[in-house]
Amino acid sequence: MRRSEFQPAYLRLYECGELARRVERGLAALADCALCPRECHVNRLADKFAVCKTGRHAMVSSYFAHFGEEDCLRGMWGSGTIFFSWCNLRCVFCQNYEVSWEGQGGITGPGDLARMMLDLQSQGCHNINFVTPEHVVPQILEALPAAIEGGLRLPLVYNTSAFDSLESIELMDGIVDIYMPDFKFWDVQGARQYLKAPNYPEAARRAIKAMHQQVGDLQFDENGLALRGVLLRHLVMPGDIAGTQEIMEWVSRELGPNTYVNVMGQYCPAGKVSSREYVQISRRITPREMASALAATHAAGLHRLDSRLSRRPSLE
Ligand code: SF4
Repeated sequence: MRRSEFQPAYLRLYECGELARRVERGLAALADCALCPRECHVNRLADKFAVCKTGRHAMVSSYFAHFGEEDCLRGMWGSGTIFFSWCNLRCVFCQNYEVSWEGQGGITGPGDLARMMLDLQSQGCHNINFVTPEHVVPQILEALPAAIEGGLRLPLVYNTSAFDSLESIELMDGIVDIYMPDFKFWDVQGARQYLKAPNYPEAARRAIKAMHQQVGDLQFDENGLALRGVLLRHLVMPGDIAGTQEIMEWVSRELGPNTYVNVMGQYCPAGKVSSREYVQISRRITPREMASALAATHAAGLHRLDSRLSRRPSLE
């Protein structure tokens, strides 16, 4: 698809009035929140909160042009990332512990969120990349009309752990251009121990399928920049506790062998992981483990792999 022919998905919904209805529906859902698979049923409109520690308004820890994302997102001028504080998962190995577990950041109303998007666009970023958006879908929707009226025309990237409810993904249908789910764990036991969410694998499978049904396989413009589709990430874990082979076989079978996949080898111990706690994952992965993860990916028939291994830290 040529960039000049691209129109972000949300413009059509804005013009026909559907975006306004989505905002209304999303905000109403906050009154008895089941916006993610935790299904806490708290009234976030009254600023009550539960697992994600987020009430009526989103919190943002930082926003900037990010050059560490995949080449097809960062391009020449960076991916316009907006990092939301808190999280609905409890990954014990979280690389952003201060942000996701400790809530570093500030309350950000819809006007400020819209201004952040427009600022990133004016810096030349190629997309708006919402990082950890699972618990703030209504707040993102709420900010969009002002951003669109201010001239926002960039594709939106939904950069998620995939611990999303179907309702959230439906709310984002026709809004998000690029879904970037990180499929973390295949089995219930691993998800319980390391993500504190035994229902993660089932929820992720459901949500990722719904994302793919909406936007299909990843498409690029003439400069190799992503415009629309699913970019699936997977972080290889020590001792293969994430179940890489099962995940890749599922992706190939359910989404198709043309799915664009980033098999990530940069795991390093962080968060609650130490030589005393979660010892099994208190090391980096070995080159052999990475090679075996890539072999499993190829064996599953997946052939559109992001290739940035040469720029990653050593896999000692
Ligand atoms: S979004 Fe937050 S409050 Fe709502 S169900 Fe998920 S964790 Fe609970």
